[in-house]
This record gives sequence, structure tokens and C-alpha cells, in this order.
Amino acid sequence: MSDCDKPLLDKVIENRNCIGCGACAFAFPEQFAMRAIHGSWQAQLLPAAATEPDTAPETICPHSGAGLDETEIGARLYPQAKKDPRLGRYRSTLVGHVEEGGFRAGGSSGGMITWLLADLLERGEVDGVVHVRPAMHRDDGLLFEYAISTTVEQVQEGAKSRYYPIEMSGVLKLVNEGDKRFAFVGIPCFVKAVRQLQFAGLLRKDAARICVGLVCGHLKSKYFGEYLAWQAGVAEEEIETLDFRHKLADRPASQYGFAVSQRGKDTPLVRPMQDLNGKDWGEGLFKNPACEFCDDVFAECADISVGDAWLPRHVDDPAGTNVVVIRDEVTATLVQAAIEDGRLSFEEASCDTLALSQAAGLRHRRAGLSHRLARRIEKGIWAPRKRVEPALAKSPRRRLVYDYRLQIAETGAAQFEAAKAAGDVRLFEQAMAGLLQDYRRTVRDNLPLRLAKKAWRFGRKLLHAALP
Ligand SMILES: Cc1cc2nc3c(=O)[nH]c(=O)nc-3n(C[C@H](O)[C@H](O)[C@H](O)COP(=O)(O)OP(=O)(O)OC[C@H]3O[C@@H](n4cnc5c(N)ncnc54)[C@H](O)[C@@H]3O)c2cc1C
Ligand code: SF4
Ligand code: SF4
Repeated sequence: MSDCDKPLLDKVIENRNCIGCGACAFAFPEQFAMRAIHGSWQAQLLPAAATEPDTAPETICPHSGAGLDETEIGARLYPQAKKDPRLGRYRSTLVGHVEEGGFRAGGSSGGMITWLLADLLERGEVDGVVHVRPAMHRDDGLLFEYAISTTVEQVQEGAKSRYYPIEMSGVLKLVNEGDKRFAFVGIPCFVKAVRQLQFAGLLRKDAARICVGLVCGHLKSKYFGEYLAWQAGVAEEEIETLDFRHKLADRPASQYGFAVSQRGKDTPLVRPMQDLNGKDWGEGLFKNPACEFCDDVFAECADISVGDAWLPRHVDDPAGTNVVVIRDEVTATLVQAAIEDGRLSFEEASCDTLALSQAAGLRHRRAGLSHRLARRIEKGIWAPRKRVEPALAKSPRRRLVYDYRLQIAETGAAQFEAAKAAGDVRLFEQAMAGLLQDYRRTVRDNLPLRLAKKAWRFGRKLLHAALP
């Protein structure tokens, strides 16, 4: 069968555009199953099913380019809200942190998500929360999984960002049964899939009554955590759990630590991320290749989106600060009430300020995505329909940067797997050295450019201080 004749989801999977969300395996279990490949989840096509489903599977897949895009979903869900091309729909845009309890100290940034989930539960707005927690009793040895929390304590156990593969086919099956109401937490593509499932009538509305989105740079394979742990001197089989966002009191929020707890030992080992290979999110070591074809940074299909305030005014505070985009009425009312009684400390910020906090992510997923789409067309490879037009980057240096990043994403996990199979992780470093060196050399600035950037950053700081 030629590439053109294949069903759309075959193309998604074969071209590594599958993020492994599990929406297809949940909705069409006779056609799709989830499997681990190169340390990430991926859909697998099962032998032809006897009956054709009523809904075309590609319409619920967030990466097929079929069905509604994020702009259309946002317009359908929040028709009254204002729009911004970078943030999607919004009622209000905020920067700040949680004052109440230990939510801020226990969270990745300002503690907003865990606080909100606890508040929703306590007020009876939902009966449970669907989010990612340390795994319990898994046969496959994975450290994190989607799970249901029904108490505030369980919600708090699930705090922190997991830069780790997760899939939601099993948990969606559980919450789709019965009549309970749940809040769902997900990275943007997972939230988009949940919305498509709800629109198609395949998932109950109350199974994800409130959708909380994480602002997202990219998702990592499980080898990211293993590689960081190995650098800290801990082998895979000794890992009890990982904390990718350990706060370091003496450093800016952006220079957080990585903590690895070892089996049979009480105290975790902590290393500043600055000291570890893999720290550079721009380089994107162990990035899921599907993320290279994504254009949603601010979780545009979620009722509320939460991220890190990577802003000059906040980044120096090691306690962590959130950026928040509110789109629906329920969360808007809860948040406003909590600001008024001092449980939350948030102030209005402009869309420009929020976009500035994710400037690199937006650049890579707008201009960078245009370039990658154009490369696929150039090579005759299938590419999904996106909200940006294909166009090669104008500067030769930028083209190289984007091309190298894609290569790093496409090769890292397989090289790590090969090195592990050979019993020596150093082989991974040897195998990647040339590509990483080429990338770093291309990104490294020459002196005039560095001075110009310094001046730009200074100007940006002044501009930011003047912005509301
Ligand atoms: C893969 C990934 C990439 C990210 N990229 C960016 C980025 O580029 N820019 C940015 O500003 N912020 C990014 N974030 C979000 C950021 O790391 C924080 O999670 C966010 O600021 C919320 O902080 P908090 O203190 O309010 O959350 P917390 O109170 O720590 O709560 C986090 C909640 O998210 C849930 N969760 C954790 N990991 C996952 C996951 N993989 N999938 C679904 N739910 C999960 C937890 O179960 C918990 O309920 C990313 C998060 C993830 C998981
Ligand atoms: S991205 Fe999700 S819905 Fe699409 S093929 Fe992969 S697992 Fe299935
Ligand atoms: S970058 Fe996009 S595709 Fe990748 S995990 Fe985030 S939302 Fe999903």
C-alpha cells in the first residue's frame, strides 16, 4: 500500500507523530493497543477488527491533523472569551503563587495546580481528580502513571511535573464508568484528545468536568530520568522514584535540582540540573519526536492552563511562580474568591507577559514548526495539518538549529537503549557526542551577537517592568 492510501493513524504512528496519549486505545480497543517503544508510549495497530467504528479514529487523535484544531475547539468551548494567537482563548491571565498551606513548597512552580485540585475536591465541584502520580505495583517498572485521587492527601502526593511517558487509556476507561465528576490534568495534546473524545460522545462530559492544562515545552522518554540518575551515580534498578523539579533554596527558580530516591535509602540524592547533561530544554535530549510537530504551548483546550513564570521579575525567586490562563467560569470564580481572601497571591498580567514567559517554546513551535513542515514536504514525507504554514527558516543558522534538534529527538532514545543493552551508558554519550557538539557549536553565539542579545535582554527587562 502506498503512503497516500494508508489510514491516517498508520501515517501518524509510522512517522513518529504519535505522542502515545492512549485516546485511540481507550476509544477503539479492538483496533489499537498501547506499547512502549524507545522508552515512550506509542499506539499499535491491531489486526483488522470485524466491525468499523462509527467515529473515524483519526478525528480523536490530537496529532493526526484531522478533526477540530485547538483554535476551533477553543472557539467552541469558550465563545465569549477573548483570543490571543499564542495563548488561545482567555478570560483572565495571571502571574503569582499560592499562599495557603504547603502547596507552593510542594509544587513544581507556584503550587497552583495542586491547590486548585484540592479546592475543587473540598468544595464538591468534583468527586475525584485524574492526574499523574508515582506508580503503584506496575509490572513494567514505570515510575509514574495516570491515577485517580479522591482525597486532598492523594492529590498532594501527585504534585510535581513528571517529565516522563504516561498514557491515559486505562484511567479514561475507569472514569467513563458510573456518574462521578472528575477534574482532569494533562499536557496540551492530552487535553485536546479528551475534548475530541467528549465531542464525539465517546467520553462522558463529567469524566473530565474541569480540564486543567499544563503549559508544555515537550515530553521526555523514560530514559531522560534514567540518564540523570545514572549521572548522579544511581543505576536504573536502584531507582525508587524521581523528582524532576526539586527546589533549591539558594538558586533562581530556573536552576532547580533533580532528586533521585534509591531503594532502601531514606535520603534522596540531589543534583543541580545545571551540573547534568540533559538540562538544556532547547537541545531537547530524549524529547518525544511527536513534540516536534505540535503547535499548542498554552494548553488551549483546557479550562485553566498553568505554567512557570519564566520572567525576569519572578525567575530569581526559588520558591516558584505560576503563569495562569483562565478560560471558564467555574475556575475563574474559585480563583477570584481565593485571591480576595488572601489564599492566593496573583496579579493580572498581559498576554504579552505570559507569551514572554514561554518565548523559546513559542518560537520553536511556530517558526520552528513551519520549518520542519517544509522539510517534510521537501522529503515527500507525510505531515499533519497544523496552524502554521510550511516555510523553511530564513537564516541558514536557524535551519541548522531546527534540523539538529529534530535529529537529537529522533536518535537519543534509541542510542540510549542500545548503550543500555551493551551494558555501558557511556556508549550513549559517545554516540551522541558529534551531533550534540555540532548543535551546541551552531547555537553558541559569536561575541557581537552575544552583546546584542545582552542589550535585548536588558531592554526586555525594562519593557517587562513597564507591562501590567
Ligand atoms: C512534560 C511537561 C512539560 C512542561 N513544559 C513546560 C514549559 O515548557 N513551560 C512551562 O512554563 N511549564 C511547563 N510545564 C509545567 C510546569 O512544569 C509545572 O507543572 C506547572 O508550572 C505547574 O506547576 P504547579 O506548581 O502549579 O503544579 P503542581 O502543584 O506541582 O502540580 C502538577 C500537577 O500536574 C500533574 N502532572 C505532572 N506531570 C504530568 C504529566 N506528564 N501529564 C499530566 N499531568 C501531570 C501532577 O499530577 C499534578 O497534579 C511542563 C510540565 C510537564 C509535565
Ligand atoms: S497520538 Fe494518541 S490518539 Fe493518536 S495514535 Fe497516538 S496514542 Fe493514538
Ligand atoms: S509539546 Fe505538544 S505534543 Fe509534546 S507533549 Fe507537549 S503538548 Fe504534547
